[in-house]
Amino acid sequence: MPSGAHSIVWVSLDTVSAPHLALYGGRADTPNLAALAAGGRLYTRAYTHFVETAISHWTMLSGVLPEVHGNVPGNGGSLYQGPTAAEIARSNGYATGAFIGGITLEKGASGLDRGFDVYDDEGVRERETRPAAEVVARARTWWQAQSGPAFAFVHLFDAHFPYTPADPRRYDPDYTGTFDGTDRTLHGHRDAGTPLPARDLEHVRALYEAEITELDVTLAPLFAMAGADTVVVVTADHGESFGHGYFFNHRASLHDETLHVPLVVRAPGLASGRDDRYAGLIDVLPTVLRLAGLGTTAPLMGKDLSEPGADVIYALTDPWMAPQLFAVRSTGAKGIWAPDGSATGYDLVADPAELAPVAIAAQLAAAKQRYRSTVDALAPHMAAAPAGPGRGVDPETAAQLNALGYTVPPPPAPR
Ligand SMILES: [Zn+2]
Repeated sequence: MPSGAHSIVWVSLDTVSAPHLALYGGRADTPNLAALAAGGRLYTRAYTHFVETAISHWTMLSGVLPEVHGNVPGNGGSLYQGPTAAEIARSNGYATGAFIGGITLEKGASGLDRGFDVYDDEGVRERETRPAAEVVARARTWWQAQSGPAFAFVHLFDAHFPYTPADPRRYDPDYTGTFDGTDRTLHGHRDAGTPLPARDLEHVRALYEAEITELDVTLAPLFAMAGADTVVVVTADHGESFGHGYFFNHRASLHDETLHVPLVVRAPGLASGRDDRYAGLIDVLPTVLRLAGLGTTAPLMGKDLSEPGADVIYALTDPWMAPQLFAVRSTGAKGIWAPDGSATGYDLVADPAELAPVAIAAQLAAAKQRYRSTVDALAPHMAAAPAGPGRGVDPETAAQLNALGYTVPPPPAPR
């Protein structure tokens, strides 16, 4: 193994939207995440490239955009030709363990077990989710049994719908309405359904934020486990939508509530502070490898965020899968393109809530065109689609995923 290599703890807070965290000016109280950020680097403008769990995690852990890795729920992660974070770590002599909180990353459905010595998703198929405290306890037990460098990936699913904090009345005690954070009352209001009255919507949002507050408590033993010599990363696969005519879900919205994710990195040798440059989930893997002291020949698309660099125009989302929405931003400007080619611009300085559409800034249209050449440059590494489906997912798991809103598509056509 490389001399000076550091162990890695990489935490993904599924469905946690940065604007809701106190650390980012929101209302969810996150003191443990704030303490980690105080000793590390807080990235204030980090965004996902795809608003769906398995595809986004594949991008996070491979360092390439969805169109390049080619993996969707149901093909079992069998397409991408390049290495994953776990495969890189294992080839460098690390013990590798993943601890999974939700069915969307179940190994048969996602194929994310590639490169992990241990991929602990026990029970998620039957229960759909495991509480964060249980997942963290499993990770700690495994971590403490390792004697050399280790890479632990920890996936915590608690903030995902339904919003059921342990003590729901604690967070919005004045509410007298009848809505809760479950499908029992929100059925018909979810996705592009009927909007809730403002006070009821406020209550449901408070329940979501309560889940994040309770999730933060479970992070303390994880950070204590890691120790000062370990690279610790906390981020999310996507956020959650509470507006723009789309509610309590994420996979059909490209507004910042679903795109803006937390990103905190603490590592030996990384100066603490905040970094306001645009960052994407493709940037996390090159950053982690650099900070851990690991090299790779993998075709990574992102940049090393531990190094200074100029801000760039960012093609944020990958339009590969339906509904083929696409979003691009540069400082102060954002554009969202619909599948029919129509586009909506926003002035993020004057209108950070994206309520008043404006014309598309010229540099954004140019960035959209560059997306194609960037992806095509990686064609030699792109997913080689097999003649038939990959390992696939059984009909029962597919039905569970569909019930959660994760449509399991047919395998992609050869490209
Ligand atoms: Zn997710």
